[in-house]
Amino acid sequence: MSLCAEELFEEERLLCGADLLNYKIFPYRGKLKTVIGKENTAENAYILMDTDRKHEVYRIPVNVSEEKKRIYIAEANFNRYWKNISSMIFAGLRKEVIGKQKFYPFQDMVETYVDLSFYENEHRKAVLEHYQVKIIGIQPTEEVQKLQSRRASAMDNKKLVYVYSDGKMLFHDKSCPLVKEISDTDFRACAELPENALLCEECRERMYIRRACGEDFKRYNAYHHFFRKGHVNIRIIQELVGDYQGKIHLEGIDTLRVICGEDTWKIRIDDAGKITLLHNNYVMVNDEERYILSEFHNQNLPKNISMTGAIQYLENYTWEKHLAAKKIAEEKAAEIVTVGQEKSETPKMVAAEKGSYGATVGKAMEEDVKTNTNPTGKKIVSTIRRLWQSIRCWRERKC
Ligand SMILES: [Zn+2]
Repeated sequence: MSLCAEELFEEERLLCGADLLNYKIFPYRGKLKTVIGKENTAENAYILMDTDRKHEVYRIPVNVSEEKKRIYIAEANFNRYWKNISSMIFAGLRKEVIGKQKFYPFQDMVETYVDLSFYENEHRKAVLEHYQVKIIGIQPTEEVQKLQSRRASAMDNKKLVYVYSDGKMLFHDKSCPLVKEISDTDFRACAELPENALLCEECRERMYIRRACGEDFKRYNAYHHFFRKGHVNIRIIQELVGDYQGKIHLEGIDTLRVICGEDTWKIRIDDAGKITLLHNNYVMVNDEERYILSEFHNQNLPKNISMTGAIQYLENYTWEKHLAAKKIAEEKAAEIVTVGQEKSETPKMVAAEKGSYGATVGKAMEEDVKTNTNPTGKKIVSTIRRLWQSIRCWRERKC
């Protein structure tokens, strides 16, 4: 980035040639916070560098830690400008020693102002070559190779989904970006979480989604975006997967199939964020039992229902509650006929007048009635009833 000398007065922190002799330069790759740790602070600054044009200088963005006397510079900027920066340091060094010593500093001395430790670990070291950072792999010892292959096979094992560092009881999903921070020596993997395990905040959502969608976890990002689009927070996902043992499967990008208890649901979100909840169809085989079909009906939740609201609704739905509501609705309907001597309202309409749970259950019943009364529905119902009777006879050994 270049700018005119007059504009420089606006800047707070500028480092010129001679200043650089007071610091060590740390090139880094990726996000600075990840490299130096959150507790470390480094303020924004710029190294000023002359350009060929008159009255113009380059300013190279860096971060400076006064406490540690360090300059942190992103790798791309380091590789691009190190040749120029090293010349500035060299010039500064030469100025310092003239008249004091009998020798001129060698160019190599400049390299002592660079620290490449952020690149190095047990498997690799870093050097400067042609003014660029170059990573060199270290041939691993037999012991290290064993640890690496143990880690690789644990990562490939589909049953081992949780990872932690030996001695630290903080658990990660194996796909967590922080897993790479665990050394091969400390790397441990397991299939089940111990009781009261401490879960990594970075990957808790991954753990719940993996548990609920199984093999489809490879599409984790699509699940993450679906829940973000519906503004569903981690607590709600935890409740659905943990407390209610919900199983999920994303159909396309806007419909989530949820199995919760005996029932299957579909939560759909459109481009405007509007939520629709669909429920599996079923037919009554007698007064208390039902046979679940593979088709779905709209549960007709309120128009402005949130995705969280739809999830909580399906969590609270049980067939027993539905039957209880139906019974109340039927009794109420009978009452209306007796007292008013008027034409009876249908049970579902009465249920719809009662509170929110009654209202929604009433609508669900309405859909049941539709399933039962259309010509195809009637045919399916009678076939299923016959089948159901045969199954019961067989179970009770009566036929
Ligand atoms: Zn994690």
